Amino acid sequence: MKVVETIANLKSLRLKLPEPVGFVPTMGYLHKGHLALVKRAKAEDSSVVVSIFVNPTQFGPHEDFDKYPRNPQRDLALLEKEGVDLVFMPSVAEMYPPEFSSWVDVGKIAERLEGASRPGHFRGVTTVVAKLFNLVQPDKAYFGQKDAQQLAVIKKMVADLNMNLEVVIVPTVREADGLAMSSRNTYLNPKERKAATVLYQALGLAQKLWSQGEKDAQTIRQRMTALIQKQPLAHIDYISIADAETLDELDAVRPPALVSLAVKIGKTRLIDNVVVE
Ligand code: AMP
Repeated sequence: MKVVETIANLKSLRLKLPEPVGFVPTMGYLHKGHLALVKRAKAEDSSVVVSIFVNPTQFGPHEDFDKYPRNPQRDLALLEKEGVDLVFMPSVAEMYPPEFSSWVDVGKIAERLEGASRPGHFRGVTTVVAKLFNLVQPDKAYFGQKDAQQLAVIKKMVADLNMNLEVVIVPTVREADGLAMSSRNTYLNPKERKAATVLYQALGLAQKLWSQGEKDAQTIRQRMTALIQKQPLAHIDYISIADAETLDELDAVRPPALVSLAVKIGKTRLIDNVVVE
């Protein structure tokens, strides 16, 4: 496994990789969710490239960029074990030199839900992912269902800008009690970690109500809200039942619908989702 920090070195090693090339962009502090993406790429492609870059432009001024967990040595050991060919770990200055001034903005779909709670977040995501796609030139890029809106936004960018690659969706990897794996779970103390299962419970309730024939989205949102409000450590940011592609909020649930939520557990903001079909 080769590890490079500069764009020049990435480009020269990329030229030698057997195709098709699979690419997994990450912010590091890897867990089994990330590794599921890597394993899928490994199974489908002749070469696998992983990036580890905590992208400052997708964090708001009062968010956790500085304290976002980092452990590059451990990450590299995990990726080596998976048989990854090339890891790109650039510095912030390498990705955003002082003269940098171009941005990718996909419009409406990036302004709701996460985009409404975190203004500018998706502009940072799409810009860095576009840069990484240009550098790595993958045949396929792998993203987790865990970040459902990110997936929708990236798919829109790829379609609108005619990017020449396939976006592959990998199902959410969960802990035994249902909590979606996330690098941010490490912020939770033991009490909060227990309370955090309320996200998955609320999504399970939505699925159950839908399978019992409930079609009214507002009823489902209200039942989810009531369940989460019983957990004193949890504070709801949003609960959404939306068209899975456009993310338009629904009055009547029609499949495939994305049920997604953002909930603060103590100071830690967690997101999760399920698709009802
Ligand atoms: P991050 O490092 O949080 O930016 O995530 C990098 C990629 O891993 C994104 O495509 C995420 O959607 C994906 N990912 C994160 N957590 C999970 C999970 N629990 N299951 C599946 N994919 C995940």
